[in-house]
Amino acid sequence: MTKKFNFDVTATDGRARTGVITTSRGDIRTPAFMPVGTAATVKAMLPESVRATGADILLGNTYHLMLRPTAERIARLGGLHRFMNWERPILTDSGGFQVMSLAGLRKLTEEGVTFKSHIDGSRHALTPERSVEIQALLGSDIVMAFDECTPYPADEATARRSMELSMRWARRSRDAFGDRPGHALFGIQQGSIYRDQRAESAEKLREIGFDGYAVGGLAVGEGQEMMFSVLDYAPEMLPADKPRYLMGVGKPDDIVGAVERGIDMMDCVLPSRSGRTGQAFTRFGVVNIRNARHQDDPRPLDEQCTCPACRNYSRAYLHHVNRAQEIIASMLLTWHNLHYFQELMQGLRDAIAEGRLAGFVADFHALRAGGDIDPL
Ligand SMILES: [Zn+2]
Repeated sequence: MTKKFNFDVTATDGRARTGVITTSRGDIRTPAFMPVGTAATVKAMLPESVRATGADILLGNTYHLMLRPTAERIARLGGLHRFMNWERPILTDSGGFQVMSLAGLRKLTEEGVTFKSHIDGSRHALTPERSVEIQALLGSDIVMAFDECTPYPADEATARRSMELSMRWARRSRDAFGDRPGHALFGIQQGSIYRDQRAESAEKLREIGFDGYAVGGLAVGEGQEMMFSVLDYAPEMLPADKPRYLMGVGKPDDIVGAVERGIDMMDCVLPSRSGRTGQAFTRFGVVNIRNARHQDDPRPLDEQCTCPACRNYSRAYLHHVNRAQEIIASMLLTWHNLHYFQELMQGLRDAIAEGRLAGFVADFHALRAGGDIDPL
């Protein structure tokens, strides 16, 4: 039986919420961090390993998958879950953001966007209807409405034109999605840094009606202070009984600040991408394992971490395999980073449930302010 898409807030602490999103492919504990599986893989990780870090849901990228191996091929092969061996929930983005950041020769009209593939230069089009169709072919559990991610900075008139276009596209996305029991469609609030436009966008999305709502157009270069100032009001303009998703966030302190401001879901390539460049996230901040100070250090990255990289390997080993460009370096550091992010989310969920979020956040910042353990 197909389970209905549902969201239950089980506890709040200030503006922060914890709860459970129910889908036909399993529950998503919120606040949730979604690892990014761009090309039908979270790079350097087996899907069962991603699950072992505590992830309930992955994000897939419509832009990448439509170009290679194509949505039609994935559909013929049984859908994205079977194709990539991940049976739990998948959220797909609409492709809009990556068309604007990766593709060549883009042309934006009322109808949609035409562009050239960054892989082979072939020409493609994305419209609200086509984006929703692709996401349905992939079998995505949470489909994102097609929008224009307003660039930053944008003056008021530019932001307004962009927001109004996205709201017309939101309506078209809703119409194209139709009625698909067990699947959800999320609308995306735009309006840049302008409070009245954010309110208007939220109102338009409410009128159309979605299963969840994203705060769009942030984490695009505005900086943490500006992002938080928008998050001080934007999430509360969206329906309280639906999940609120902040796209493309972020660093651990961005995540903590967003959760404090009422965000339920986030995604970012940071833990996996950083894992491939020798950057590890720990309770004490960022460790660059390439640094020579680690080459004789027999201690784990973080003695309290229970991930395989920390249980079984020294900083000296991680330094060595990174310097030697061994594949295991990416595997171990990605695992550690994803584990750290998921543990942070569990800590936030527990703290909200127990009404002690302020203390948790104070400890989080204090530990990081102290920096990494001293060199030997
Ligand atoms: Zn670890």
